[in-house]
Amino acid sequence: MEIEIKSQSDDEIVFIVRDAEVPFINAIRRCAMVNVPKIAIEDVNIVRNDSAMFNEVLAHRLGLTPLVSNLDAIEGLPLPEDEGWEYDEEKDTWADNIKKGVLFELKEVGPKAEGESKVIYSKHLISSDETIKPVYDTIPLVKLKKDEVIDIEAVAKVGYGKDHAKWIPTTVCAYKQYPKITFNEDKEVDYDCALACPRGVLKSDRRSKHIKILDIENCTMCKSCVRASSNGYINVGYHENDFIFRIETDGSMPPKEVLLKACDKLGEKADKFIRFSEEGGSK
Ligand code: SF4
Repeated sequence: MEIEIKSQSDDEIVFIVRDAEVPFINAIRRCAMVNVPKIAIEDVNIVRNDSAMFNEVLAHRLGLTPLVSNLDAIEGLPLPEDEGWEYDEEKDTWADNIKKGVLFELKEVGPKAEGESKVIYSKHLISSDETIKPVYDTIPLVKLKKDEVIDIEAVAKVGYGKDHAKWIPTTVCAYKQYPKITFNEDKEVDYDCALACPRGVLKSDRRSKHIKILDIENCTMCKSCVRASSNGYINVGYHENDFIFRIETDGSMPPKEVLLKACDKLGEKADKFIRFSEEGGSK
């Protein structure tokens, strides 16, 4: 198997995997989405909410606010599989619950003047841990009118995407098989197929009487070019075992970290399965 990184930024990585199988690539995709630990607001204590927004909607909005969640930042925080991770109102006090995660406070007052309003943004969330804070400052949370007060305490905990979408670190996690475009050279060149491509993959070159492939990796295999060609000049298919993989995150953690952690998790699962098989075989 060969891996080649095509591009990488703070929130997106695109790489090509050659000579792999669909189930393996799909297992990595699934692990990246649902098995990589990430921190998000889980428990919310609304002391006062004078705004027009329902408490439940506000709590949901806080939960979906991406928080800085790189592996160094969440190191040492309890995981859902650890005992006592879940807040039990009957047994625990709110102070006990705070010890299991990172405390956020949101205490704001609306404007003094009649008719004015104030938008409360994610930057107004005050964290008890300076490394774990909202990724973006400008996510609107709630709007306050004259003298309205909002007073909220919330605890962010580490969780997995398999339990709730707020813990999914990826916004895009997808692969496609590597496109393959061929031309039937025994047929007359059909320039209509290049005109039909919505992605700028094909370019007519009338001087040399052929069609150039400008960027095959940009091809979505939509086959608009095939449908536009009246004489079957172009064929679009894919390489069975080569893939273009793209991971984009919500900014909470670098995409490379998501990928590495997903591979670790897949390795752990495979080890567990091997141990289970071996133990089962020896019985
Ligand atoms: S399959 Fe679609 S994207 Fe690919 S070359 Fe043809 S028209 Fe363009």
